[in-house]
Amino acid sequence: MRLTRYFMPVLRENPAEAQIVSHRLMLRAGMIKQNAAGIYSWLPLGFKVLRKIERIVHEEQMRAGHIPMLMPTLQPADLWRESGRYDAYGPEMLRVRDRQDRDMLYGPTNEEMITDIFRSHVGSYKDLPLTLYHIQWKFRDEIRPRFGVMRGREFYMKDGYNFDLTKEDALHAYNRHLVSYLRTYERMGLQAIPMRADSGPIGGDDTHEFLVLAETGESEVFYDSAVTDLTFGDRAIDYDNVAQCAGVLEEFTSKYARTDETHDEALFNQIPEERRKVARGIEVGQIFYFGTKYSEAMGATVQGPDGKPTPVHMGSHGIGVSRLVGAIIEASHDDKGIIWPEGVAPFHCGIVNLKQGDAAADAACDTLYTSLTALGLEPLYDDRNERAGGKFATMDLIGLPWRITVGPRGLKNGVVELTSRRTGESEELPPEAAVKKIAEIYRGAHPAEHVEMMKTRSFHTYI
Ligand code: ATP
Ligand code: MG
Repeated sequence: MRLTRYFMPVLRENPAEAQIVSHRLMLRAGMIKQNAAGIYSWLPLGFKVLRKIERIVHEEQMRAGHIPMLMPTLQPADLWRESGRYDAYGPEMLRVRDRQDRDMLYGPTNEEMITDIFRSHVGSYKDLPLTLYHIQWKFRDEIRPRFGVMRGREFYMKDGYNFDLTKEDALHAYNRHLVSYLRTYERMGLQAIPMRADSGPIGGDDTHEFLVLAETGESEVFYDSAVTDLTFGDRAIDYDNVAQCAGVLEEFTSKYARTDETHDEALFNQIPEERRKVARGIEVGQIFYFGTKYSEAMGATVQGPDGKPTPVHMGSHGIGVSRLVGAIIEASHDDKGIIWPEGVAPFHCGIVNLKQGDAAADAACDTLYTSLTALGLEPLYDDRNERAGGKFATMDLIGLPWRITVGPRGLKNGVVELTSRRTGESEELPPEAAVKKIAEIYRGAHPAEHVEMMKTRSFHTYI
């Protein structure tokens, strides 16, 4: 993309309404525009990041064997009357009436609807296990929408639902979700710590929230600092292997890590004092096992091996896709702007032309642009007639991980400059070598099948 043909309304001034850095930087970088309290348009740059996050979520859910689908945003109230939640949910639920006077609602979550779909089509235990998920907009009429997309009223969420014959099978589904979430967040450059949580209005026995540590987080968290040493990395995982998934859960949840809702001071005090940490965190996901709560209330049974109707064991598992955009920025920025991790960067690298209109510089930029694009990479070429300082400031603000700077002086020596946004370090190298290096970095940052897709360029035609 050439910047002169793009739409990226960067703000010079700090917007007064933004209290936290991610909200400020998203507004300044022209990623979002507020349309009403807690309701945002995703401008092109923000939309690209949202799509990259969504794509990682899809890839990791499908890898775990979970099946994507799509349910609507508007739901009939009658389904929620069956579960008893129509009255229980309270003013966070946006209720509407259609022209036939039917009560509808804008879905805050989808347990009832997915249970209805399940009971309509699945009749036998032989069709289990089954995990369906979708990524769809939700609406919760939050009393205090704030912090930009972090606590919106309309927000984008992945929610998945498992259906199993037994509690044991459902707990394997729970563990599978935990593993897939660890991988998902790490691919976004985040450490999200599973913490024992309270089940709240969904109701249930087992639940963990995934929290990203950040000063601006809304949750108070208590943990053993040893949990922050754990990384999932690129270890091989067989999602059908019950013991292996249970082992990962054990490894990642056996150290003390809890939100204030379940915090236990006595247990906490058993940790050596220097490892006891009290901090704040951003909730980026949550997994639940809730047994037969919905299947019993709504008659979602299957014929068991003994021929008898058996209510299925269920769980629901959410990822805050739109909140993650803010959470990643909270975790990765400096005083000049955003620093995108490679996994979610809106463009793979920036090209800065120091002397627009100089024949050699223009030609070198065009060649770089074409070579990067041919490799399935997406550069953002700042081809504006602006001073170098302004171009650098924009690139720093929008946080592309790599920048190639092209100027007549370097070109005389056959080199361009490649700069890392994270470290600020630069090196001079021939343009082809810079392209090669960037391609290698992104190959290393994504799993093999994602890199294959980059080659076919299905990758950015997706957006
Ligand atoms: P919170 O405690 O932050 O209100 P929640 O526990 O009610 O969230 P869940 O039902 O667990 O939310 O939803 C799954 C995920 O969706 C959350 O982990 C969070 O990342 C995201 N999410 C929930 N509410 C919002 C919101 N108002 N704005 C943006 N993302 C949200
Ligand atoms: Mg939650």
